[in-house]
Amino acid sequence: MTYQLTEEQLMLQQMVRRLAREQLAPHAAERDEKGEFAWDAVEIFRENGLFGCDFPEKYGGSHMGTLAMCLATEEVAKVCASSAVVLLVQELGSLPMMLAAGDEQKDKWFPSLASGEHLVAFGLTEPGAGSDVAGLKTTAVKKGDKYIINGRKQFISHADVAQYVCLACRTDPAKAAHKGGLSIIVVEKGTPGFSIGKHEDKMGIRGSTTCEVVLEDCEVPVENLLGKEGDGFAILMKTLDFTRPCVAAQALGIAQGALDYAVAYAREREQFGKPIISFQGLNWMLADMDAKIEAARQLVYKASATFEEVPKDLSRVSREAIRLSAMSKMVASDTAMQVTTDAVQILGGYGYVKEYPVERMMRDAKITQIYEGTSQVQKIVIASCL
Ligand SMILES: Cc1cc2nc3c(=O)[nH]c(=O)nc-3n(C[C@H](O)[C@H](O)[C@H](O)COP(=O)(O)OP(=O)(O)OC[C@H]3O[C@@H](n4cnc5c(N)ncnc54)[C@H](O)[C@@H]3O)c2cc1C
Repeated sequence: MTYQLTEEQLMLQQMVRRLAREQLAPHAAERDEKGEFAWDAVEIFRENGLFGCDFPEKYGGSHMGTLAMCLATEEVAKVCASSAVVLLVQELGSLPMMLAAGDEQKDKWFPSLASGEHLVAFGLTEPGAGSDVAGLKTTAVKKGDKYIINGRKQFISHADVAQYVCLACRTDPAKAAHKGGLSIIVVEKGTPGFSIGKHEDKMGIRGSTTCEVVLEDCEVPVENLLGKEGDGFAILMKTLDFTRPCVAAQALGIAQGALDYAVAYAREREQFGKPIISFQGLNWMLADMDAKIEAARQLVYKASATFEEVPKDLSRVSREAIRLSAMSKMVASDTAMQVTTDAVQILGGYGYVKEYPVERMMRDAKITQIYEGTSQVQKIVIASCL
């Protein structure tokens, strides 16, 4: 697979770069400090049609695909990683629906998700089931025309602000998760028995909310099942295959933002009578940072371009696409962590204080090695493709 950015993709990249600099960057530190959901970013994305990037035109989207999503996410993450999570979670929550919803379900849900009028969350992780998806315990028992759902979900991004949560449940406890035991059911905000528990106070991406979801005899109409009973594992895995390059794009953006800041700072800051950028010990660090970012970018764009060809249904994903998706996330997130740590070093003591953005970028980078499968899990996926 080769890729060449199209004129349309380049225009999107320029447009998002400008709006990120002009509208998102000025409040990035404030979003981090307040630790509240970034509604202002939602408004900016709504006005500029960014939630619709990956939705078909029929539902009000622009149908630009995974690479376009990644380009937009990268530009936003350069200035504000929390705002990038707003885009990412809308994609993560919508993908199970894109892969498995029927026409009536799409007609009902997609227009308001593509416009951003409604937000959506993805409820997989549980207190006892993180990396080991198969260990999830939330149950959905069919009674007449309802599923009765009981359980607890942990660390669910935006569950408190979303209209819908795509919830992974065990519908057949006798079957293994990957052999038909799991299903995905869409739960709507306000459904009796659905409530939000603890809100996490986080290290980074503090403009994105992360909460516990509690399900106590929560009654959901059977029409909210995605695909067939037992399709859950396939939906979850394919969703993550699609979204990992998008998290990788977030990591890439964070890294590029930190490098850009460090270069500008190193040109201005003088020690020993010279700009610090003239010291070889520092400019070799900058060269390493730049090279690592460019290598990660090629992998992220290649992985996301590969996913343009993957149908949004429950057909199998090729081993090569799975491998590239996992590699892009692992490489870009490790790059983001290394580059942001070095950017703090380049700013010296100023890198360590909140007046300068690189300490926020270093805190924000860390999550990209953890969510949607840790770096260790990506290695398991890559190795399984060998
Ligand atoms: C801010 C934030 C937002 C999140 N948003 C969402 C969301 O929207 N929806 C959702 O469903 N989840 C979400 N998560 C959950 C996230 O995906 C999980 O935290 C992640 O998958 C890891 O699971 P865990 O925390 O249970 O860690 P564990 O699975 O307990 O892992 C602990 C450590 O063990 C390692 N490990 C585990 N198994 C292996 C193995 N077989 N080999 C080697 N090492 C291993 C891991 O890499 C990790 O280092 C979010 C988490 C956070 C912190």
